[in-house]
Amino acid sequence: MNCNLIIKGKYVLTMNEKMDVFNDGIVVVDNDRIIEIGTKEILKKYKSKKIIDAGNSIVMPGLISTHTHAAMAYFRGLADDLPLKEWLEKHIWPAEAKYVNQDFIKQASRLACLEMIKSGVTCFNDMYFFEEETASIASQRGMRACVGEAILDFPTASCKNPEDALKKTEEMILRYKDSELISVAVAPHSIYVCSKENLIKAKKLANKYSVNLHMHISETKKENEDCLRDNKKSPVKYLDEFGILDNKTIAAHSIWLDNADIEIYKNRQIKISHCPISNMKLASGVMNFEKMNESNLTISLGTDGAASNNTLDLFSEMRVCALLHKVNNLNSEIASSGEVVKMATINGAKTLDMDNKIGSLEIGKKADIITINLDKPHLSPIYNPYSHLVYAVNSADVENAIINGKIIMHDRNVLGVDEDKILREACKFQ
Ligand SMILES: [Zn+2]
Repeated sequence: MNCNLIIKGKYVLTMNEKMDVFNDGIVVVDNDRIIEIGTKEILKKYKSKKIIDAGNSIVMPGLISTHTHAAMAYFRGLADDLPLKEWLEKHIWPAEAKYVNQDFIKQASRLACLEMIKSGVTCFNDMYFFEEETASIASQRGMRACVGEAILDFPTASCKNPEDALKKTEEMILRYKDSELISVAVAPHSIYVCSKENLIKAKKLANKYSVNLHMHISETKKENEDCLRDNKKSPVKYLDEFGILDNKTIAAHSIWLDNADIEIYKNRQIKISHCPISNMKLASGVMNFEKMNESNLTISLGTDGAASNNTLDLFSEMRVCALLHKVNNLNSEIASSGEVVKMATINGAKTLDMDNKIGSLEIGKKADIITINLDKPHLSPIYNPYSHLVYAVNSADVENAIINGKIIMHDRNVLGVDEDKILREACKFQ
């Protein structure tokens, strides 16, 4: 039987329900899909135009980052080590007012997509301005992305008012409704910059097309305290009372939740994008991973923007996630390596409501696959591939990336891209 691509590797991690691992495994891809997966016996059945023999490697689903502001890559390291309010009001907002326009988003998204591909991210869930530019760059690069134009009560770099942002969102939903790679979410920023009326309008639009609603929820103590003062209830209760929360809600951060809030998350099947590095860097707080995990909530990982991280590297995010919750609970059994790899793969797909398509290597799913080279001093010897992925692998160990059946990066070269030009453009911006 003919097929397009065969990938071989020492450990094929499927991340399926049973967490099957094939030693000396094979993944067979035809067009955009995985058509078979197993050990070398299946090779006899197929004739492929292209074979990637990744040798001593891990072959696994591409990583899914469920909360990003990709174009903020151009603000990487602009201002650090400051309280959130000062960081935002004195540095980020003025820089956005000064620099953000269509060209800026285009160039910065080029850099962000390059960085993500090179660190094994094959799909990201974004919220920012001029998102049509980020969508078009992601799609040119062959990346999977879900984009959401940020909706705020006041004018932004890209929209005169919230109606404008809603209109833009609806146009994008229609434009990308049959797209292979791009999907669209409605993205009201947060309760502190979106009125109840605008949040209701946003949810109505999301319901109309049955798309996700992506927002920051309960990120800071201040957000929580202000809401308790003004509405006499927590942000989660406040949002729930006017019908914003359901199984199409992607809640970034979710730090300051009490038990009743977690119960609402459970009942409404809200999906969480956990961003531990950003939360630590901005000193926002520590998400109650233990309780939320015990409640069987879907928890995935996001890097947030590069201005508060300062990279888009999900391997660092995995490591920090595992370490943070162990020390925070004085319990080394929390956030095990297998559990954390799930967060960056299949849970990411569940968060984006795309787990029928991506997030694991299974027959019939889209071929979004990465390989990690284990021939490195810091990865030898190997007893447990999940352990290495969380505690030892660096993003630079990712060697190949396949998205939707297409080879996007081969031997660390992102195909069809002038990498130097993208880096020169970024340096010119300073
Ligand atoms: Zn964010």
